[in-house]
Amino acid sequence: MNPLEREIRALIETQGPLPVSRYMALCLAHPEYGYYVTRDPFGAGGDFTTAPEISQMFGELVGVWCAEVWRLMGAPSRVALVEAGPGRGTLMKDALRAAKVLPGFLDAIELHLIETSPLLQERQREALHGAVPSIAWHGEVSTLPDDAPLVAIGNEFVDALPIDQFEKKAGRWHERKIGLGVDGFALGLDTARIPDFERHLPDRLTPAPEGAIFERRALGPVAGILSRIEKNGGAALFVDYGHTESGFGDTLQAVRGHDYAEPLETPGEADLTAQVDFEVLAALANETVHAFGPVTQREFLGQLGIGARADILRQNAKDELRAEITISLERLTGPAPGMGELFKAFAFAHKDLPTLPGFDGAKHSGDS
Ligand code: SAH
Repeated sequence: MNPLEREIRALIETQGPLPVSRYMALCLAHPEYGYYVTRDPFGAGGDFTTAPEISQMFGELVGVWCAEVWRLMGAPSRVALVEAGPGRGTLMKDALRAAKVLPGFLDAIELHLIETSPLLQERQREALHGAVPSIAWHGEVSTLPDDAPLVAIGNEFVDALPIDQFEKKAGRWHERKIGLGVDGFALGLDTARIPDFERHLPDRLTPAPEGAIFERRALGPVAGILSRIEKNGGAALFVDYGHTESGFGDTLQAVRGHDYAEPLETPGEADLTAQVDFEVLAALANETVHAFGPVTQREFLGQLGIGARADILRQNAKDELRAEITISLERLTGPAPGMGELFKAFAFAHKDLPTLPGFDGAKHSGDS
């Protein structure tokens, strides 16, 4: 039994079964044993590979997106460039290098990184050394500046925000909680029924069938970014895996060594995520902050010109690297096992901004 498992066991013994969100938060961010606190999980030798770790093209295109959004904002002389969950800092490093194409953008940037893990903060410091004059780290969104327009990005950030799960049994909704089973942790239903649960579901999903599972995510960090855009202008881009419309199902997933693992086993030693419900994200939009997308990662990167970028890189590359660029392009934009369709891009933007780059022809919701 690992130390985190022992600690969670003791918690359950004294407090009773834990909400899924509590378990997820402990596994990912426990100050001593949390997954992101104890390791750098990215890349071939780690547990999983994210888009910016596949190819420099991803961060470069996101960097150009940021610079272009800043230009559409009227090129303000001061802008907070925010990244939520920067991992190794690879995306931001590539983004800042590419953003040089727009003179003035780098000079206007104040870089703010939202990262809970001290170990990853250190990685980010190394990766971004010298890229911009100053970087500020934040453990949470609440300490971000509240007096500057903002361009924010987050790749595979929302999927790591904890979810709760609810299940319909014998016609009633109950919370799913993590308790102690015969050997190890076990998911069970809280005895308390939740009245009127289906009131919060989209009409087309009700009445829900017996056995339906619904996931709800604590979106506080996203809402915090949105409220800053509402007040000071700007836009935010989130790229993640998930579904365009709300639906039923258990999507809690553990990944370890590039393979699926059991979410309730060896807590803190596997990455825990759940699919992003983009319909719920879009519902956060309001009269002042509009939502764009989601569009598939293939569509988004395609509109930003990943094809042309790959061509240029291939022209300048040696033979053996040329094939690698083609493979990376396919991993980023191709159908499964590629990321092109499962992963989606979604954005919020202040109503004063026109259609954002990458979202041409995409669904646009807000008060327009
Ligand atoms: N964007 C990176 C890393 C994605 S992994 C990439 O694409 O490679 C998720 C990242 O979010 C990690 O850096 C993790 O430490 C961070 N993270 C997860 N939950 C967080 C939270 N609640 N607040 C701040 N950072 C968080």
